[in-house]
Amino acid sequence: MVESFEYNPNPGRVVFGQGTLQKLPDEITRLNLSAPLLLSTPQQVGQAEQLKEILKGKIAGVFTEATMHTPTHVTDKALEYAKSQGADSVISIGGGSTIGLGKAISIRTGLPHICIPTTYAGSEMTPILGETAEGIKKTRSDPKILPGTVIYDVDLTMTLPASMSATSGVNAIAHAVEALYARNTNPIINLMAIEGTRALASSLPQIVQDPSSAEARSSALYGAWLCGTCLGSVGMSIHHKLCHTLGGSFNLPHAETHTAVLPHAISYNAPKIPDAMKKLAEALPESNGDAIHGLNVLLEKLKVKRGLKDYGMKEEDIDKAADIAVSNPYWNPREIERAPIRELIRRVWAGEPAR
Ligand code: NAD
Repeated sequence: MVESFEYNPNPGRVVFGQGTLQKLPDEITRLNLSAPLLLSTPQQVGQAEQLKEILKGKIAGVFTEATMHTPTHVTDKALEYAKSQGADSVISIGGGSTIGLGKAISIRTGLPHICIPTTYAGSEMTPILGETAEGIKKTRSDPKILPGTVIYDVDLTMTLPASMSATSGVNAIAHAVEALYARNTNPIINLMAIEGTRALASSLPQIVQDPSSAEARSSALYGAWLCGTCLGSVGMSIHHKLCHTLGGSFNLPHAETHTAVLPHAISYNAPKIPDAMKKLAEALPESNGDAIHGLNVLLEKLKVKRGLKDYGMKEEDIDKAADIAVSNPYWNPREIERAPIRELIRRVWAGEPAR
């Protein structure tokens, strides 16, 4: 029997393919816009310049100072620039950091936001914005934060280095995994979570072997879209909360932290989520019916670092992290208890494989 559920699809428009960047002028016309402000990080100025060319210079300007964690002082600077140039929209080209800036400007001004993602993090599909002010990262959710149009162009992901592709892809899989056991999950999101995990788990090892494979890149970006949709649609629990705590408190890199934590977070919840574990195992190649084993095999193939100590987390931070992790209660399939959570964090810190 199908259990009762509620499903709230998000209204964003998606254009997917290879070479889809060329469709941007049509999209701007469709939305009746004429002066977009282009946003990028300093590392992706080249891609912002490519946009400017496609738009034949008909832009309000280019702001290339997007940075991790969406600091509000950068947003304030970009806002001032947008106003001085008479921007009527924003276009973010990049990963979660640049998209975060686009969301921050859009929610403050009401300007339409077109997103062109170049990683697998999934922010483009969510109504969620995390911002940092005076060292504290706060997250909020508002339907108005969701970008209106998302253009996925496989070509733009070809330059994402293999190691970053691997961790960014596992970051995406984490959204799907937690969607499988979310309190408000539903059959549609389950389909997307399984298909997204399948697409990424099969293509990421190919990308690590051959980053120039357009076929693998296309499959990974498709998977990232599905997984991002899961993140934007249902509630996340222990895995995302822990990554938020660890990343925010100890300044650890986003995708790498997700990669190190994921098998351990699933292992913590495993006794309470037999159905999700079964579905996940089916979506992971070489799992032999065991989702944790399947994930360990995948991470092995991706040659990623497994321990947060490799990213500068100190041993004495384990207790601090455990204290923070149990201090803010939230829903999770298994109760959050300090002793097993501390042991989970210790294993993640040391890089021991999950069991
Ligand atoms: P990122 O945006 O910080 O990008 C990392 C680096 O890779 C940057 O220097 C960027 O310029 C570069 N880069 C990105 N794409 C590239 C490409 N194709 N080729 C070469 N270089 C490229 O990384 P991210 O993991 O995408 O985003 C992380 C941030 O996004 C975090 O702050 C996280 O909190 C946020 N995030 C938010 C949501 C949400 O729903 N609000 C979801 C996921 C992530």
